[in-house]
Amino acid sequence: MFQKTRSQLTLAYLGVLSLILSLFTIAVRWNFTRSLDRQLNSKLASLAKAAAFNMDNEEGELEVDDDETLVDRNQLIEWFNLEMEVLSAQGEHKLDRPLDLEYLKEVRDYANSTRSFIESVNSLETEELIGYVRVSESLVERNNILRRLDYGLGSGIAIALLSGGIGSLWLTGRAMQPIEANFERLKQFTADASHELRSPLMAIKTNADVALKYPEGMRGSDAEKLTAIASGSNQMTSLTENLLLLARTDKAVKLQTELIDLSSLIAELIQLYQPQARAKQLDWQAQIDADLYLLGDRILLRQLFVNLIQNALYYTPEGGSVVVTATKDNSQLLVKIEDTGIGIAPEHLDLIFERFWRADRSRSYQSGKSGLGLAIVREIVRLHRGKISVDSELNRGSCFNLHFVNIAKTKSQKLI
Ligand code: ADP
Repeated sequence: MFQKTRSQLTLAYLGVLSLILSLFTIAVRWNFTRSLDRQLNSKLASLAKAAAFNMDNEEGELEVDDDETLVDRNQLIEWFNLEMEVLSAQGEHKLDRPLDLEYLKEVRDYANSTRSFIESVNSLETEELIGYVRVSESLVERNNILRRLDYGLGSGIAIALLSGGIGSLWLTGRAMQPIEANFERLKQFTADASHELRSPLMAIKTNADVALKYPEGMRGSDAEKLTAIASGSNQMTSLTENLLLLARTDKAVKLQTELIDLSSLIAELIQLYQPQARAKQLDWQAQIDADLYLLGDRILLRQLFVNLIQNALYYTPEGGSVVVTATKDNSQLLVKIEDTGIGIAPEHLDLIFERFWRADRSRSYQSGKSGLGLAIVREIVRLHRGKISVDSELNRGSCFNLHFVNIAKTKSQKLI
C-alpha cells in the first residue's frame, strides 16, 4: 500500500520537475536561437552593405577584400544587375536560386541550409538603382551549434530527472517510515483487540443462549432483554471476526496456497445457502463447470464466496433470482454472482469496497451488517492476484465478476 503511495509521490515529483525543466529548456533554447540568429542576420546585412558599396565604386572585377574569410565562413556574395542576372559571385558556397525581390532587405532561409540577405544598390552620385547584392551563408555551423545545445540540454534533463527520481524515492521512503510504523501498530492493535474481544463475547453469547434455553421462571421482559443481548453479541462476534480476517489479509504478504477444487467449493456453498434462498422464495441457480482448480488459501476463498453469496441473497427481495456461474476460459477462471436485487447507484460503485461503507446505514445497522464484507472480498481477490468488477443498475440487480489467472490445469499440480 505504502509502496504505491511512494511511487505516486515520486511520479508526481518527477512530473513537476520535468515540467519545470521543459519550460526552462524551451526558454534557454528560444533565447539562444534568437541571439544566434540576430548575430548572423546583422553579419549578413553588414556584409551586403559593404558589397553594395563595392559595386558602385569598382570598375571591372567585383570583389570584397578578404576572400579567404568568405570561404572559411562558408559565405557567398552575388552581384545582380537590374535584369536580375548574375554579374559576378564570390565565395565557395553554392546557392542555385533566382533572386527573389520579395525578400529585399530581409533574411530568407533556403531548405534550412542557407540564409540570404538581399540589398539594393544605388548609385552614390545619382542615387538611382543600379543593381542588387545577395549575401548568403551556410546554416550548417549554426545548426551544429543548436544541435550541440539540444544534446547538452537533453542530457542535463535526463541526469536531473534520474537523480531527482532516485533522490525523491529515497526521501519519500524516509518520510513514510514513521507513518508506515504507526500504520503497522494500528493494524496490530486492531488484530489484538479483535482477538481479545472474542473470548468475552463468546462467554456472553453462550450464557445468554443457555439462559434462553430454560425460560421457565423468567419474566417475559427478561427473556426479551436476553434475546437482545444474544443478538448484540452475535453482531459483535461477526464484526470482530471480520476485523481479524482483514488484519490477517493485511499481513498475508505471501499466501499458504494449496490446490483448491473450486467446483466443489462453490457447489457446497450452493447447497448450504439453499434453505435461505428457499425461505425468500428466490430462484436459486448455479452453473458450475467441472474441474475448476485454483491455487489459493481455502479458508479465504470460502470466505470470499460466502460474502458475495450472502450479499446477493440479502439484497435481493423475495421472488427475485440469484445465479452463480463458474467457468473456465483458456487460462482464466471466471466466477459470476448475479442477482436481481436492489442494485447499486453508479456513484456508489467506487465506494462499496471501502471498509465500513454501506449504502443504507440505518437499515444495515439494524440487520447487523458492518460494511466489511466487500472490503474483505477485495483483499482476498488481491492476495490471489485476481480481479473483481461489478456491473449494477439500481432496482434491477448486480453482477460481481471474478477473474483468477493462477489456474492449476491438472490435479497433479499439488501443493507449491
Ligand atoms: P455489508 O455488510 O453492508 O453488506 P459489504 O461490504 O458486503 O457490507 O457491502 C457494502 C455495501 O455494498 C452494502 O452495504 C450495500 O450497500 C452494497 N452491496 C453489496 N452487495 C450488494 C448487492 N449484491 N446488491 C446491492 N448492493 C450491494
